[in-house]
Amino acid sequence: MKGITAQFKSYSYKYAAMDAGYDYEPIYKQVRSSEAHAVIAYNRRREPELVGFDEHFAPTCVREHAYRYDSYDPKYETLKYVRPKECQSCPLAQDSLCQKVYKMKITTDLRKYSAPARGTKSWKEVAKKRSAVERVNAYLKEYFQLNNVRHQQDKRPKRTSTWLR
Ligand SMILES: [Zn+2]
Repeated sequence: MKGITAQFKSYSYKYAAMDAGYDYEPIYKQVRSSEAHAVIAYNRRREPELVGFDEHFAPTCVREHAYRYDSYDPKYETLKYVRPKECQSCPLAQDSLCQKVYKMKITTDLRKYSAPARGTKSWKEVAKKRSAVERVNAYLKEYFQLNNVRHQQDKRPKRTSTWLR
């Protein structure tokens, strides 16, 4: 673990973009401990659907419109979501049931919440910049022994990761 932290700190990177093969909570925690954000495809593992959230974990209104990601506040580590357009004509718009802004602390669940938020264009852009950095892969494999975690039906694409400044 210390090796990774040192490795992380030697770069001043903002995002750690990795594929779904790295979607494990200790990795998010490690990335976060160096104040970066993990951009990792979510690997749904027979998890129940969350009521009140869309497939990218954005909060939804009572009529199931997903709130739109607006910004990240680094001081409070919160993602700000705003009420979507679809809600403007909603009869509940003036009701207290329908809040204008929704703030989500990323530490609620680092796997689900990172900046930029999952499902956004900017999240996809960061993810796209991912390219192989073997040195970092070696660290991660060594410390988390991901090779041993591999499942029988390992048809997933080769794992790659990169640090983006
Ligand atoms: Zn609504």
